[in-house]
Formats: sequence, structure tokens, C-alpha cells
Amino acid sequence: MEFIDLKAQYQAARASIDARIHAVLEHGQYIMGPEVAELEGQLAARTGARHCITVASGTEALLIALMALGIGRGDEVITTPFSFIATAEAIVLLGATPVFADIDPATCNIDPACIEEKISSRTRAIMPVSLYGQCADMEGINAIASRHGLPVIEDAAQSFGATYQGKSSCNLSTIGCTSFFPSKPLGCYGDGGAVFTNDDHLAGAMREIRVHGQSRRYVHTRIGVGGRMDTLQCAVVLAKLERFDWELKQRQRVAASYDALLSGKLGLVARPRDRTNVFAQYTVVLEQRERIDAALRAAAIPTAVHYPVPMHLQPAYMRWSSPDAAPVALAMSGKVLSLPMGPYLSDADVFEVASTLLHTLGETVPARCELSAAAT
Ligand SMILES: *Cc1c(COP(=O)(O)O)cnc(C)c1O
Repeated sequence: MEFIDLKAQYQAARASIDARIHAVLEHGQYIMGPEVAELEGQLAARTGARHCITVASGTEALLIALMALGIGRGDEVITTPFSFIATAEAIVLLGATPVFADIDPATCNIDPACIEEKISSRTRAIMPVSLYGQCADMEGINAIASRHGLPVIEDAAQSFGATYQGKSSCNLSTIGCTSFFPSKPLGCYGDGGAVFTNDDHLAGAMREIRVHGQSRRYVHTRIGVGGRMDTLQCAVVLAKLERFDWELKQRQRVAASYDALLSGKLGLVARPRDRTNVFAQYTVVLEQRERIDAALRAAAIPTAVHYPVPMHLQPAYMRWSSPDAAPVALAMSGKVLSLPMGPYLSDADVFEVASTLLHTLGETVPARCELSAAAT
């Protein structure tokens, strides 16, 4: 069993992926070839955002978004401490200060109630993360931001395809940033990402920053980066988009099967009714995480911890906040465990994972036939 089975996905989508890759090899426009604009058009249409600009990675997306907003030395950006390090990294790379607001223990996303007290005269942006494939409380966050005249950058690296109050992740705030890292719900075969906005001015700035701040060839209007997504990776995402809706349904199927077996027996990340989840991770909350993780691994079931150390306690990041800045994030970092997830995970595999987990917890394991009954 794989934690995320990318080989099965390739086998299923092979004809289309191979054809797309070969088309690029034949036309030879490896940088900014026609697939780049084609993908940007499709992603903009899917999210409803006016502009989509593909970039070299999810990390680059965050960096370019912050640069377009003019964030730099002396500025503060409020974000969650419970995320992949890239979220805070993009802030500090620009000389700005990450200010960590604690999370809601139910959803593991930034808690809007913790944001307001962190706002200072130096605050320049709020950067929530839509963790595990589920949007943060964007309504609450946007309301605070608009009271203080602040832009909001959604780190949607894990949530492309999710919806919030009927609107698409990536199109819920000033700028949305996503990633096409291979293991994300929509992935390529290397690094890739995209930024989204409805603001023409910010879109223009991000387009220039992506290519060395160039407004015309050899005219560098602003400081930029080498931040393009290459044509081959865009071609891979275009091929994978053909089955993305089906894959999201399969992720829901896997999650529903896990739910049927596990809910009531252990903690689950809460799923508010106003949002859909693309299950970048299916994460459970355990009081004895290390013991249970060891038992799963002994049974050859791959697991992952997202994330074992909150960012404010990472050695390189501790200088920006006190160690007790986010007690909820610290507590959750000791309890969360992500189970195998993906569109190609079979019901039998789900049953094996869940029954091993229940057995380790000392819970009764239902017969296989009861699962089928519960899932239908
Ligand atoms: C994966 C991820 C990133 C970084 O994306 P890359 O494409 O790997 O650079 C940023 N933020 C979050 C929350 C992520 O999960």
C-alpha cells in the first residue's frame, strides 16, 4: 500500500499524459509554450478567478504574491504556525516577520479569533492556510482584514478544487496560491504552482515578477524572480485535469469509507458544512499518536504527520515569537496522524488501515460486510 499512489494514477491517465508530453517535445517551446496559457485559462475558469498565473512552485507562488503586495523588511504578516514550512519561509525570505496566530483545534486551521489581537501598525497581510484540503474560515478572516484594510493571501497549496460557501478555493481572497507538487490533489511530475486574483493591477505585477520583473524584454520595471512553470509540467496538469473531478469523487469515497469505520471511535478533523474538502490528507486525532503510529507502521501501513513541530518552534523560526505563542498548534502537532489517501485507494486497503487502527485502539473491528452496508 502506498501513502499516495501516483503510479496507479499514471497507469489510469497514461494515454492522455503521454500524448500531452509528446506534443510539447514535438513543438519544442519548453518555456512559456502554448500549454502555459491553456492551463492558466482552464484554472481561471474552474476557480472563477479573473487571473491565473502559473509559477515554478507553491513556495514561489507565496513569494510572488507577497512581493506583488510590496511586503518586505519591517512588515508583519499574520499566519498559522500549523503548516508546511514554506508558508513562513516566503515571509522571512523577504525580510518580513511572521506573526503566528493560533489554530482552531477542531479544524486545525487558523482561528480568526486569534488573528485580531496580533494586528499591529506593522501588519501588512494575513496569510491563512487551507490545511488538509479544507478551506480556512475565510469569511471570518476576510471580515477582520477588511476592517483593517489588509490583503488576504490564501495558501491553497493543499486545497485546489475545494469550495467554501459555494466559491472555489484560490478565489476567496485578494490572492490565492496553490501548488502542483506531485503529491498534492492536483499534481505535476516536478514542481509547479499558480497564483490567482481578481485584481488586474496585482495580476500584472505578479506576471512581471514571475519573469525577473520584466515588463518588456530587457526592461526590468521591478525586482522579480525566475519563477515560471515549465511547459512540460503545465502539459501534465492539463492531462490530469481531465480526470480531476472523478478523482475528487474517489477521494470523497475513501473519506466516507474511513468515516464509516472510524467516526465515534477516535478524533477526526472537523468539517464545517459550508465547505467541501478535497482530502489532500485524511487526518485523525489521537491521544497516543506515537504508539498507534508505530503499530500501523509495523503492519506495513504508511502514515505521515502533518506537522510534528509547529513553525514557531522550528529552530530557524523561534526568534520571531515566544515558545508559548500557539499552545493549540503545539498540542495538535502531538496528536495528528494522516492515513493513506488517494483516488486509487481500494475499499479493501481502507478496511485494512481502519481495522488495524481500531484494533490498536482496543476497539471492536466490524466485519468487512458491515462496512459495505455502512458505505452504501
Ligand atoms: C506543499 C505546500 C507548499 C509549498 O508548495 P511547493 O510546490 O512544494 O513549493 C506551501 N504551503 C503548503 C500549505 C503546502 O502544503
